[in-house]
Amino acid sequence: MERLFGIETEYGITLENEAHKEEEKHDQKRNIKERLSFAEIKSDHILTNGARLYNDHAHPEYSTPECSSLFDLVAHDKAGERILQRCAETRSQKLGKRVLLYKNNTDFHGHSYGCHDNYLMAREVPFETLKQGIMPFFITRQIFAGAGKIDELGEQQYYQISQRSDHIVTEIYEWIQFSRAIINTRDEPLSDYTKYRRLHLLVGDSNMSEYATALKVGTTALLLSAIEIFHEMHGFELADPVYAIRHISRDSTFTWRVELKSGKTISAVDLQREYLNFVQALITERDEETEWVLAAWESILDDLEDDWLNVIDRVDWAAKKWLLEAFIDEEKLDWEDPWIKSQDLEYHNIRTESGLYYALQEQGQVQRVVTDEHILHAVDNAPQDTRAKVRAFLMRTLTQNRMPCIVDWHQIYAGHTEYFEMKEPFDTNITKAQRWMKRLRKRPART
Ligand code: ATP
Ligand code: MG
Ligand code: MG
Repeated sequence: MERLFGIETEYGITLENEAHKEEEKHDQKRNIKERLSFAEIKSDHILTNGARLYNDHAHPEYSTPECSSLFDLVAHDKAGERILQRCAETRSQKLGKRVLLYKNNTDFHGHSYGCHDNYLMAREVPFETLKQGIMPFFITRQIFAGAGKIDELGEQQYYQISQRSDHIVTEIYEWIQFSRAIINTRDEPLSDYTKYRRLHLLVGDSNMSEYATALKVGTTALLLSAIEIFHEMHGFELADPVYAIRHISRDSTFTWRVELKSGKTISAVDLQREYLNFVQALITERDEETEWVLAAWESILDDLEDDWLNVIDRVDWAAKKWLLEAFIDEEKLDWEDPWIKSQDLEYHNIRTESGLYYALQEQGQVQRVVTDEHILHAVDNAPQDTRAKVRAFLMRTLTQNRMPCIVDWHQIYAGHTEYFEMKEPFDTNITKAQRWMKRLRKRPART
C-alpha cells in the first residue's frame, strides 16, 4: 500500500530567564496557565496548510498534515517550528518578555512531552503480527533517532542517547496519559476503518535534525510496507523490551547489546541490520525516496558501529554530545556544571537566531534534506498528494467567508448540520468540496 504519515510535536515553553532556574517552584504548566485566557487554553485550530495547531495540556502542539512524500513531511515538520516561532514572537510583544519554545521531550522537573509519528496501514495486517514484528525495531531505532539528554546518576551527570526512553513504562497500552507504551493500541484510523489502521507511536524523540526525521520516518514506513507484504518478522523478540529500551539509551559504551527471548544477545546495530535486510529483500519496487532511505540506513549503521563521531552531522544525540563536550573542554568545566545542562536545552531552542542546533546548521556542520524554500512553502501550502489539499481548500474558503466550522482530520462540520467527509486519505479531488461549499453558501444561516 502507498504510504501516508504525519508527525505530532509538543513543544516545551517558557519565558526567557525562567527556563534554567532550578529553584523555580511553579512548573511550566502553572507558569503558562497564569498567563493564558480560557479561550487560549482551549485553543485548537486547523491551519490553511492542512495542519493542526493546538494547546495540549499547556504545551503548544503542532500536528503536520498527512504527507505521502518523506521530504514533504520533513518540510512540514520544520514549517511547524516556523509557525510556532511566529506565534511566540507575537506573544512576546504582548507580554514584554521573550517566550521561548523548545523542540525537546523533557523539562528540568521530570515532565515528559511527546513526539508522535503516525502511519497509515492496511487493516488486514493482524495487529498481533504487527506488534511482534515491529517492537524490536522501535526499541533500537533510538540509536539514530534519539535526541540525547543529560541525566543524573546519584550526584553525577551522564549522557543518555534518548529523551523519551526513560518515560516508557510498558510494551503496549491504549491510553497515553496513564502509561506511555512502546506501541500504542488506540484504534483511531481517522479514515475508512474497514480499510485502514493508523499506527500511532509514542516512543520517539523530537528531532532537530532534518536528516534524523527523514531516517526515522523513512525506515519505519519501509518496515511497515515490508510487513504488509510478508505479514511476519520473527526471531528477534527481546527478553525484556522495557529494560532493553532504557539500557540502550543509558549505555555509555555505545555497544548497545540486548538479550533476545532465545537467550542470545545481539547489538542494536546488528538488530537494525536484520531489519534493513528484511526490507531490502521485500521492497523491490523502489522510487528515489526509497533508495535514499535504504542507502542512508545502511551507512548510518556502518558509521555508528565504527565511531559515534562519524554521525554528528546527522544524528541529534551525537551532534549535541559533541557540542557539549567541546564546551566542557574549552571552558574547563565538568558535566555537573549547570551551564552544561542549560546548553543541552538550548540545542532544542527553535529560534534560528539563537538555538544551538541552528548555530551548527549555520556553520554547515549538519546535513540537510530540505531547503528553506521548501519549508517556507509548507508554512502556507498543504501537500498536494493527500486529502490535506482538500482540507486546506475548505479552511481557506470557510475562513474567507467567515463561516464557523468544526474540523477533524476526516470530516468538517459547517452550517450547523452539514458535514463533509474525507474518509479516503489519498483523495485529492476538490470538485466535491467546491460543490459542498457552493451549496453551503446558498443556504440561509439558521438562527
Ligand atoms: P493526541 O495524540 O494528541 O491525543 P491524536 O494522535 O489523535 O492526538 P493529532 O494531534 O490530531 O492526533 O494528530 C494526528 C496526526 O496523524 C497528524 O500528524 C496527521 O497528519 C496524522 N494523520 C491523520 N490521519 C491519518 C491517517 N489516516 N493515517 C496516518 N496518519 C494520519
Ligand atoms: Mg496530538
Ligand atoms: Mg498523538
